[in-house]
Amino acid sequence: MKLALIAAVSAVLLAGCAQSVPGRPSESPRLDPSKVAGLEITTGESGLRPGAPASNRKARNGDGGAVDQLATSAVADVEGYWEEQFPVSFDKDFEPVRQLVSYDSRGANLRLCGTDTKGLVNAFYCSSDDVVAWDRGQLLPSFDPISSVAVLAHEMGHAVQFRLGDGGNAPSIVKEQQADCYAGNYFRWVAEGKSERFRVSTGTGLNQVLATLFAIRDSAGGEFDAQGAHGTAFDRVTAFQFGFAEDPQRCARIDLAEITKRSTQEAFGEEDEDVGFGQGNLRVDDEAQLLNLKDTLRAAFPGVQVRWDGQCRDTTPSSYCSGGVVGIDLAALVRLGSIGDFAAFGSVASRYAVAVQDSKGLPIDGVVAGQRTACLTGLWASTIVRGRDADLAISPGDLDEAVVELLSRDSLIAGDAKGATIPSGFARVEAFRDGFLTGSADTCTTRYR
Ligand SMILES: [Zn+2]
Repeated sequence: MKLALIAAVSAVLLAGCAQSVPGRPSESPRLDPSKVAGLEITTGESGLRPGAPASNRKARNGDGGAVDQLATSAVADVEGYWEEQFPVSFDKDFEPVRQLVSYDSRGANLRLCGTDTKGLVNAFYCSSDDVVAWDRGQLLPSFDPISSVAVLAHEMGHAVQFRLGDGGNAPSIVKEQQADCYAGNYFRWVAEGKSERFRVSTGTGLNQVLATLFAIRDSAGGEFDAQGAHGTAFDRVTAFQFGFAEDPQRCARIDLAEITKRSTQEAFGEEDEDVGFGQGNLRVDDEAQLLNLKDTLRAAFPGVQVRWDGQCRDTTPSSYCSGGVVGIDLAALVRLGSIGDFAAFGSVASRYAVAVQDSKGLPIDGVVAGQRTACLTGLWASTIVRGRDADLAISPGDLDEAVVELLSRDSLIAGDAKGATIPSGFARVEAFRDGFLTGSADTCTTRYR
């Protein structure tokens, strides 16, 4: 988050922010905030099912250990999904990937698709050889099992692309967004209990999967592009969610024009170089910045009376107390600021959003209130993107901080007045995005009620 020094108003930017979510009706149908894209929120086990059938796939160069067994099971399972779904969605049969290759990035070098594997802590698909490869030495062991499945489902997404003839000349960002989306298709199938090998809970399990998405920095084809070609965490989660909620054809339709319309990276000027976490961060206890924060909240929610009182301390690092009072615990705010300034300021904005709901006579306790809070906090975020002439301006990495906060166990941004939140980070991010992309309080209060 950076101070908006120049109040350069960009009409393009404003138009970009007013876009509704592509693929969704522009009216605001009521969502069931207690569900994940229509599925019940579950918090059970995720990973390999007990007694899962052995994989019918073998990896070249593998060591036959647990990591390779999990990886080959994952590929076999994802292929099983596509063998079932490909003819339905695309009217043709799905050919299994020609070869799977396991390597150890710490071990002997292997030359694969024109790339040396020594030190290559990654997983990738390469179309020239129709190969899915993974590092069994460092990459996959750093993940829990369901996250490893997510990595391979994404790589298989590239194989799907190639089979559809979309893999060739598409820009990296399109390939990556489609691969994330196809991974979402597969995980929907797993979440519905249709996989004989894997299971995933829609609460804690999907939280893991989403957090893993922004750890993958592969590149289709073996050439490793600059950071950013995959999109921000916010964009990646969005693509996965499209796939989870909709069909594979939806993923195939992702193109540059559509990404540009909704991309958060596009919503920022070229001067925003600080795309990483912890860069461009403000000191969250700086008095001038706090005043700016309060100004932006007042502007985002006109007509709502809020009184600031440091004694109001029911939740950390910021609280809502009855009668329109919001409190900030500065020391705790600084600690949360270690994720980033946006996570910290977003948590304050969330308590302000509870005050907004209270002032309108809406319930402030329970699941729906928490989701509405996330939506209204997203709305506030949309008012401080660059070009809106606000006293604060957010940078691309800030929305990633929001995603990290929203996926954390005790997310306050999606918390009700008591700070209680639903166990689905997926649903929380969706609510936040609804507010951010529509910039409409009406959307928040009609969709989440
Ligand atoms: Zn990829």
